[in-house]
Amino acid sequence: MGKHFKNFTTVTYIPAKTAEELTPERLASDYAFIEKYIGLDKVYLESHRGGCDVKKEQLSMIRSFLEEKGVEVSGAITTTIDDFEGAETGKRRLFNTFCYTDPAMRARLKEISEFAASMFNEIILDDFYFTNCTCERCIKAKGDRDWVSFRRELMTDVSKNLIVGPAKAVNPRVKMIIKYPNWRESFHFDGYLPGTQGDIFDATYIGTETRSPAYADQHLPEYLSYSLVRFMENAWPGRCGGGWFDTYQCWSVDRYLEQAYLTAFAKAKELMHFMWSDLVDNPFVCAMGLQLGKIDKIIDGVGIPTGIPTYIPHEACGENHLEMRLGMLGLPIEPTPVFPENEERILLTETAAGDPDVISKLKGYVEKGGDAVITTGFLQAAGEGLRAAGLTEAWLTGRKYSVTRYGITGDFAGYIDNRTPILFPEIVHGNNASWSLLNGGDGDLHTPLVLRSTYGKGRIYIISVPENAANLYRVPGAATDVYRRVLAGRGTGTYASGRDTSLFAYDDGSMILYRYVKGNNHPTRVVLHTRQQVQALRDTVSGRTIPARQVVLREDFETVTEYIAEVILQPGTISSFVWEGQQL
Ligand SMILES: [Zn+2]
Repeated sequence: MGKHFKNFTTVTYIPAKTAEELTPERLASDYAFIEKYIGLDKVYLESHRGGCDVKKEQLSMIRSFLEEKGVEVSGAITTTIDDFEGAETGKRRLFNTFCYTDPAMRARLKEISEFAASMFNEIILDDFYFTNCTCERCIKAKGDRDWVSFRRELMTDVSKNLIVGPAKAVNPRVKMIIKYPNWRESFHFDGYLPGTQGDIFDATYIGTETRSPAYADQHLPEYLSYSLVRFMENAWPGRCGGGWFDTYQCWSVDRYLEQAYLTAFAKAKELMHFMWSDLVDNPFVCAMGLQLGKIDKIIDGVGIPTGIPTYIPHEACGENHLEMRLGMLGLPIEPTPVFPENEERILLTETAAGDPDVISKLKGYVEKGGDAVITTGFLQAAGEGLRAAGLTEAWLTGRKYSVTRYGITGDFAGYIDNRTPILFPEIVHGNNASWSLLNGGDGDLHTPLVLRSTYGKGRIYIISVPENAANLYRVPGAATDVYRRVLAGRGTGTYASGRDTSLFAYDDGSMILYRYVKGNNHPTRVVLHTRQQVQALRDTVSGRTIPARQVVLREDFETVTEYIAEVILQPGTISSFVWEGQQL
């Protein structure tokens, strides 16, 4: 794809201030460093950010140098602005984002877009293209509407009439890219509209920087670097340009590298290493150089990413990032803003309850024979509708259980006692109207953690989410396997049981396994499970095969036959496997 790697293009970004200050000598030495380690295919060169507008001659100097080196150069804009003469002052603008109702600021934005389009045939907007302005003018313009509705209309107008329209009037060939941030769950609060901006912009891009989840501001699961690329690819098919990560708050080199691995595993076309001056003399970049070659090789020839279809409608939130945590329990997840009605099994978290028609969609889906897994968050948000539709009789009492004991109901000896307490919501259900596959309790009480009922030709599973969803990682492995079996379903899918491990699955049967560098950093045993009759698991790099073994499980009144194979994974090491004898 790029000049240096087969499966992705390596990209960096030169912000306006850096662009303004680059001398020809500095440009040459910086370039030599970046090229040496990560191999540079493309640069986004920014003309405006905050109080900085880069002069045409300076942009041309940088572009000429890079193009002579064979580097592709596109334009970039960050929609922040310092106070200037003519603009209304005294507004509390976060990060100096624009007030999009101020006539002077609107005029200025149009000029910025026109200037960039006069210089470049492709322009990306960095992810400050949001609005949270609550100035008196914006309050007045909002009127009786809520902020979400007001900002939806406002940013549609700004996108069409101040950014894309004026740019295309100056340069009809210009391709306009809107980069969305890594905070999908909050887009609608701030005027980001991937559900409708696809009709205005030519392409999109997505933030995949997850940094150090426990300590960084945003507490984003590592799996986001994979699943947000998949979400955007499903939202704008074929038009997601790339994934964007940075060096900030990555308090280990592995944390930095994992962002690139997962972005690449999701098949992002461009890997954006933000940004130019952060890369220079950074030891992270030396390690990245080594690893890019390995990930290019490991993803070479693998099919299209696939996983458990997870419905994430636009402009919705709730149980945020939960599907990503499931992705870190060895379950491949495929998030999509389109209700996955033709799939064998689907996952709905509380976010799915943001679709006002979700109950009727779910009812039609299950009735026809689909298996739907819903979370306690979805049950909380949509419970009334679910019960009215006759899809479940279960409800949440609002009380919590401090679970120290797990009971796998189909397994006559499936009890795990005396564990560190984890708080789960209490589910009450009608005995024999639905059936619990996994109980969690303390003393002589327990509540279902995985509950099954039927409707029409299909089934509904309710899975319980701990009060702190991160405690999912602390549920004992055998109990987590009940969640995994329910989510993985009866089909061709494979799941992996093991600590801190993700399994990335592709439609040609390829699988990539990654053991995160977190928690206890020692090698771990990971068991791969499939319901297909397979003979062996083959490591596609070493060629080594591991014989598969048949196991028969009792899951309440059904017998489940699985084929399993065990591998040992080292933290921070990428490996890839295929089943031998699998039918696709
Ligand atoms: Zn305002």
